[in-house]
Amino acid sequence: MNLDLSQRLLWILRKIKIMNKTNYYMQIALEQAKQVNGEIPVGAVIVRNDEIISRAFNTKEQDKDVTSHAEIIAIKNASKVLNNWRLEDCDLYVTLEPCPMCGWAILQSRIKNLYFGSYDNQYGAFSVAHLDKISDSKVKVYGGICETECDSILEKFFDDLRK
Ligand SMILES: [Zn+2]
Repeated sequence: MNLDLSQRLLWILRKIKIMNKTNYYMQIALEQAKQVNGEIPVGAVIVRNDEIISRAFNTKEQDKDVTSHAEIIAIKNASKVLNNWRLEDCDLYVTLEPCPMCGWAILQSRIKNLYFGSYDNQYGAFSVAHLDKISDSKVKVYGGICETECDSILEKFFDDLRK
């Protein structure tokens, strides 16, 4: 094997490892979303140094609180765990693209990487509202992670509503 090929293989292996990790944490966010009872199924996890420090799901109806989105609850939990509102070394995984309220909280909390599943073509904080463009935050945003699975859990919820 020539060096060029072995380097290329190493690069591919590294990519696969990163993809596996991203998919793994999104699966855990999906597990959170499946625990939602009678409201829009959205789940979130916050990871720091390969450790899950916070998990949450949407409880807006249950709490009768418009701010009880999965991301806000996950951020609050993580801040409690770290005793710090700065979540600089943290990554957030969420099954649906954050709304502008959550998007701004994510930017303010200094989360490093945001991974989301389904795109929200109506209210998405990043794909529609472009909050990252009006902030000096350096958050990196990756959409469409495990998108098919994230879409199908939302579709099922809205289908059931129509029945
Ligand atoms: Zn939100």
